[in-house]
Amino acid sequence: MATCRGLSLMSGGLDSQLAVRVLQRAGAEVEAVCFSTPFFDISAARTAADALGVKLHIVDFTDDEVSLIENPLHGFGGAMNPCIDCHALMIRRAGELMSRLGYDFVATGEVQGQRPMSQNRQSLGIVEKCSGLKGRLVRPMSAKLLEPTIPETEGRLAREKLLDISGRGRERQIALAAEFGIVDYPSPAGGCKLTEAGFCRKLKDLKDHEGLRNRTLLDLLATGRRFRLPDGSSVILGRDQGENALLASRISDLPSAVLLTDDSRPGPTALVPVVKTEADLELARQIVHAWSRGGSGRETLKDYQIC
Ligand code: SF4
Repeated sequence: MATCRGLSLMSGGLDSQLAVRVLQRAGAEVEAVCFSTPFFDISAARTAADALGVKLHIVDFTDDEVSLIENPLHGFGGAMNPCIDCHALMIRRAGELMSRLGYDFVATGEVQGQRPMSQNRQSLGIVEKCSGLKGRLVRPMSAKLLEPTIPETEGRLAREKLLDISGRGRERQIALAAEFGIVDYPSPAGGCKLTEAGFCRKLKDLKDHEGLRNRTLLDLLATGRRFRLPDGSSVILGRDQGENALLASRISDLPSAVLLTDDSRPGPTALVPVVKTEADLELARQIVHAWSRGGSGRETLKDYQIC
């Protein structure tokens, strides 16, 4: 059988790791690709690729993801996660990399029926259509339940070695993990902040006010307590020394930003990305004072707190 080469999407979760091993068992040479955004921690993907011994390509997906959040063609999941569109676009981008690098197919660890919104049979079909990769998108975990792909029909990827897993049960994946010696994998649901209600409150607030095109503000979304003041200024208040230092380190990326501390007592650092009025700036100072050691007035100021 002539060798074929695949590029497999890697989240670091168990299914994405199993997909690599199943493809290798079916005769493919496999490298992995993951998509980096401020909303998704790729450290699990790095760890998994290292453990599997495969090269990991990292693609910055921030602008793409922001466009999808602004205009999710197939809607959001439970929070602000545009999963169907996101997944399809990741696969499209992986397909572009596949063409550039001369690979034969893109693969994913999707399991038919595993997730009600993004992995039912209809969604798998939508994703394949939107990705523009018809015939070159391999789902090794459920391949025998799906139409054969081009590498399979060409006889370059052994279809009989691919799997027929469907549904939400995890028993077969756990058994396969033991068979392949895969011991380190995060929980299936973890990793994407766009599925977290608390994070999405901050994201929606940013979208409604400053918009989502400032990379520094996106990077800082996971940092600090958030306040939105009456005249429209926002306040990001550090919750510990690490966050205080991070806020101070990003001030140079935000030309209009102001950094506040209470010099009279130990306490947080606040970053105000854009000061809209003097009244807002005074409120921001009061917030810093209230959250400093021995400060007062938190109860009233909590009215402005987003989370
Ligand atoms: S969970 Fe997040 S990264 Fe994954 S497909 Fe959904 S939006 Fe994209």
